[in-house]
Order: sequence, then C-alpha cells, then structure tokens
Amino acid sequence: MKYLALLISVSLWLNLEAQTTYLYCGELLTMTSDKVQKEMTIIIEGEEIQSIQKGYLTANDSVKVVDLKSRTVLPGFMDMHVHIEHESNPNRYLNRFTKNDADMALGAVKYCRRTLEAGFTTVRDLGGTGVNVSLRNAVNSGEIVGPRILTAEKSIATTGGHADPTNGLKKELMGDPGPKEGVVNSIEDAKKAVRQRYKNGADVIKITATGGVLSVAKDGQGPQFTVDEVKAVVDAAKDYGYVTAAHAHGAEGMKRAVLGGIHSIEHGTKMTEEIMDLMIEKGTYYVPTISAGKFVAEKAKQPGYYPSIIIPKALEIGPMIQSTFSKAYKHGVKIAFGTDAGVSPHGDNALEFIYMTEVGMTNYDALKSATMNAADLLNIEDKYGSIEQGKIADIIALNSNPLKDIKATLDVPFVMKGGIVYKQN
Ligand SMILES: [Zn+2]
Repeated sequence: MKYLALLISVSLWLNLEAQTTYLYCGELLTMTSDKVQKEMTIIIEGEEIQSIQKGYLTANDSVKVVDLKSRTVLPGFMDMHVHIEHESNPNRYLNRFTKNDADMALGAVKYCRRTLEAGFTTVRDLGGTGVNVSLRNAVNSGEIVGPRILTAEKSIATTGGHADPTNGLKKELMGDPGPKEGVVNSIEDAKKAVRQRYKNGADVIKITATGGVLSVAKDGQGPQFTVDEVKAVVDAAKDYGYVTAAHAHGAEGMKRAVLGGIHSIEHGTKMTEEIMDLMIEKGTYYVPTISAGKFVAEKAKQPGYYPSIIIPKALEIGPMIQSTFSKAYKHGVKIAFGTDAGVSPHGDNALEFIYMTEVGMTNYDALKSATMNAADLLNIEDKYGSIEQGKIADIIALNSNPLKDIKATLDVPFVMKGGIVYKQN
C-alpha cells in the first residue's frame, strides 16, 4: 500500500514536471481526414498530444507557446525506405575498403539531421552494416539529432544475391558469408539470420527477394529466394514482432515474397496485375521508391559514377518504377511512402511526393502514404501517423496547404519530434 502511494506520488510529480506546449495552428491537417481546420490549438504534455481545441487558447506562464498561425500543421512524415548510414557518391564502392565504422557513423550524423529537418520524424532503415543500429541508439539517447529510426541492421540475401556483402570481390576476399552476415541458403539459415538480426539490435527485417541495381552482380531482377525461405524469414520474424520488407524488381521473386507473407514490397519495378491482385488479397504494402529509380537512371549516364556492370541495370530498371507505381495505385494496392534515400540524397525525401502526384496520386493520398499508411505498415498507428489525442507529438508545419500545392512539402519551417522542437524558422 505504502509502495503504491509512493508510485502514485512519483507519477504525479513526473506529470507535473512534463512541459506543456500550445501549438497555435493557422491551419491544421490531422490526417484522420482531408479536412483542414482553421485556428486550432494543439495541447502537448511532454511528448504526448493531450488534446486539440478550437481557437487559440490563452496560456499561463508555465506553458510554452509556439505560434504557427501563418502555417499549415500536420503530422511528421515517415519514410519507409532509407539507408541512413551512407549516401550515393562515385567512390562508394571503394569506401567499403577504406572506411571504418566510425568514419561512416560520423558522416551519417549529418544525414540524420538533414532527414529530420526535412520534416521526416520517422524512418525505416532498410539495411546497412550495423552502424545503423548505433545511429538509432545515438538518436534515442539524444547524442545526435535525427528521426526515429527503425532499422533492419543488415539486409538478408542469398549467396551472390543483392546484399551479399562480398559480391564483386576477388576470390581471396569473398569468403563464404552465412546467416550471421545475413546470407542464407536454406530454411534453417533463414531463421538463424533473423535471430541474429534480433541479437544485433534490429527493429525490422529486410530481404532481397530479387537481384538489385546497385550490387556488383549481373542480374538486377531474377528471383533469389524460394517461397519456403521467405516463409521461414517471415515466421521467425513474427516471433519478435518484426515487420518484414522485400526488395524486389522482377515479377517471379516478387510473387514469391508476397506468397511467403512479406509485409511490404520495395521498388516493385516489374509488378504484374496478378501480383497487384495478390497484394490486395494479402494486404501487402507497396513502397515504390520512385526517387531512387530516377536518381540511378540519371547518374548511370554520368561516366564513372557507377561500376560498368551496374549501368545497364540502372538504365533499364530506374525509369520503370514511376509508371509501375501509377498502375499499382490505380489498381488499389496499398501504398506506403519510401524513397531509398542514401541511394538518392538524404533530405530530398519530399521529392517523392512530387513524383507520386505527377502520375495521378491525389495530394491527400500521397500525404497519407507518408503518415497514416506508414504507421499502419509499421504497426505503430496507435501512437504515430496522425495528430490525435494520446498520440506522440511528431508534428511539422509547412508554409502553405499541401492539399492545394504538394510542393509545399519541399520546405519545412517547423519540426517537432516527441514534443521537442528541433527546427523553427
Ligand atoms: Zn534500398
């Protein structure tokens, strides 16, 4: 009893200590509908949205007031496909022999900041070397400024597949990476690779279901997992509550990934109508990454930017993603926003909104893909993805209403994450 009383008094004290913030919103788009509300106040206690009220509430001295009367306020954006550790450059293939993890981590500090300042308060990191786990931890502990990171740690591939870390090396350096390194060739391997990711601190799981553009390998789209291997990954992932993602360009590998129960298809370049129907039936999300497609197709024309084995793949696959996206959207496949930033520059994430809407997606659906849908894909919609009572205060403001002009998303003057203001121009 005494203990209970102590607990109550401590929690009351903690509650009293939490900073109260009033956000005066000229326009408010909560993303629970496409309705824009005018002259509203969001009341935030600590990191949580306590209530949303009409008008500009009068504040006492202990309340922090943020004036966004000339802005349009909406939930922070979420990018479901980034690689936060690195950024594309012509030396990238050399960097893996010359850069230590510490070099990579220090370089990535600015990518984290840039991403958050672009209005992206949550990202799903779909694969790197393990530095991504340290970056997530550094953001969470306040050592560096960045978005919430949910990371896959290392992508899971098959031997010679996209994300086999020794592709393209000379024989002495190739070795024989296994599940520990994220390379699997059986059901047992697949389970071990997932469990190893858990041990290494991953939050989500990523597989490379087909060949890929940027690996030093010939094939950019053939299947690289069997359905049973995919199922083993998904089953093992379920034990840890992990959401799973599959990189896929070609139809066969993509179909196997969907049949195996993967939660999202990344890139989806050669998605057929049969696969779209299957995805609708299974509730699989599509994360298009049009930004990456456009970026690699453009850079492939620049001599020396990519190794020669990559150029034909980039030229073929890159330009196709946007039209596939347009078909899948019209077909009714669920879309979650993702850029593949890291392949394209960090901080330019919002360009994806432009690419999605220029081929037929409504502005509201594009914004929803980066808020409500992304939170739904990550299974965190109870706390993120909209501005509602009880949700975490991840809130941004734009200079004008993005439902009228989507380009408003390219300039983000205000960013709050977890009730803390990180940017206010
Ligand atoms: Zn990627």
